[in-house]
Amino acid sequence: MDYDVIVTGGGPAGIAAARAAAESGARVLLVERCGFLGGSPTASLVGTIGGLYSRNGDAIDYTVGGLARECAETLKERGQAYGPIPWELTALLPHIPWGYKQLCDEWVAAAETLDLLLHTCLIEASVESGRITVLRLQTRAGEKPISAPVYIDASGDGDLAYLSGAVMEGSPVQFPSMNFYMQNVNIGEALTAGLATLQTLIKEAIDTGEYDLPRGGGAVIPTMRPGEVIVAMGRIALDGRPVDCTDPEQLTYAELEGRRQAVLLADFLRSKMPGFSEAYLADTPCRVGIRATRRLVGRYVLTGEDVLGAAEFPDGICRSAWPVELHAEGKGTTLEFPPPGKTYTVPLGAMLPVEVENLLVAGRCLSATLEGQASARVSGTCMAMGEAAGIAAEMASKKGGTTAEVDVSVLRTRLEERGAVL
Ligand SMILES: Cc1cc2nc3c(=O)[nH]c(=O)nc-3n(C[C@H](O)[C@H](O)[C@H](O)COP(=O)(O)OP(=O)(O)OC[C@H]3O[C@@H](n4cnc5c(N)ncnc54)[C@H](O)[C@@H]3O)c2cc1C
Repeated sequence: MDYDVIVTGGGPAGIAAARAAAESGARVLLVERCGFLGGSPTASLVGTIGGLYSRNGDAIDYTVGGLARECAETLKERGQAYGPIPWELTALLPHIPWGYKQLCDEWVAAAETLDLLLHTCLIEASVESGRITVLRLQTRAGEKPISAPVYIDASGDGDLAYLSGAVMEGSPVQFPSMNFYMQNVNIGEALTAGLATLQTLIKEAIDTGEYDLPRGGGAVIPTMRPGEVIVAMGRIALDGRPVDCTDPEQLTYAELEGRRQAVLLADFLRSKMPGFSEAYLADTPCRVGIRATRRLVGRYVLTGEDVLGAAEFPDGICRSAWPVELHAEGKGTTLEFPPPGKTYTVPLGAMLPVEVENLLVAGRCLSATLEGQASARVSGTCMAMGEAAGIAAEMASKKGGTTAEVDVSVLRTRLEERGAVL
């Protein structure tokens, strides 16, 4: 065996999983197909960290601890994030994507037993008797086989679970979107007009047909760098339905259509939104933002009812108060919240495949229904899930690698010792 734990994907779930497993003493390999870490927050400019907080009136509390909270606090201390900003019945943390990227590099550098391979893509998994025996990675030097007793799929799209034969579902499910930077915005003027003005302008433009805007709402998120915002107003459909981003042709269309929409949306903002008359489209991200593709069908399937009913699971490994946020039909977005001040737990069972013994699945490809995933997919929750997966993987690696045999009470104690909110 080359490593104790191999993590596929360096987004919020993967970076937390890799660091947590390495801090527990495991020899860890983190594999990421991009040339940098961070996943959607860096590669797709999602702009805010959700899932960190619960809100009851004016009271806002962290619903996660551990690495997710450390990430939020470090970015805030560095002036690379601000908040919590109340939003609907919860709160979020806007951040500068560059800060997130830099922090991930620092986490890797500080973890002694963690090796990182960038520009490396998982392409195949060999499975014998329900166990992954070897992964095949596509590197700049050709294909590379690699093995460990335990694996974590934090690829967002469930690539490893899918390739190893775990049952998956849910494609297509939610619309992808292309966020983008605009610069030279008069932030003061834009903030004075506010989000409500933007929603009214979007509605008017659609109703009058003056602009064929893809989505009936959205946001412009100041990054705190002078004159800069991230625009989150896109929605990419094919024949009115969400694009399937596991399909190469549809994914290619999504990238091209996302950039076309960015030009249209920048024109709309320049002509209509206060503060934007001199602004310009500064850049689009390196890839389209993908909300959902494959979801595991695991030992437990997290549902929308679990979210709305603030479900408490005995094997809960993190909490969230994020709503069921669905971008699934037409131009609208629906939000359904747990009761104010209440949180639900994500169970370990939602990270355990039925068919593959030595695998954990963390992040937005967890085992959940469309609605359950529409809540648990946000990056604060994914980071908390990843941290739990990392500790569980290290525990499993010492005992034959079967992830379903991890002692949940020991796992929960270890997570609490790391500051997790359970
Ligand atoms: C448009 C948009 C807006 C959003 N807005 C917000 C928001 O405001 N706040 C919020 O908290 N969340 C938001 N989200 C959701 C959130 O960003 C993601 O759901 C979250 O980042 C998921 O984390 P993850 O680690 O599971 O997956 P990802 O962030 O998708 O990371 C997966 C990583 O795995 C890598 N990878 C994939 N396949 C392979 C492979 N085969 N080999 C090697 N590497 C691989 C990818 O390159 C990527 O780095 C938004 C999402 C979108 C699309």
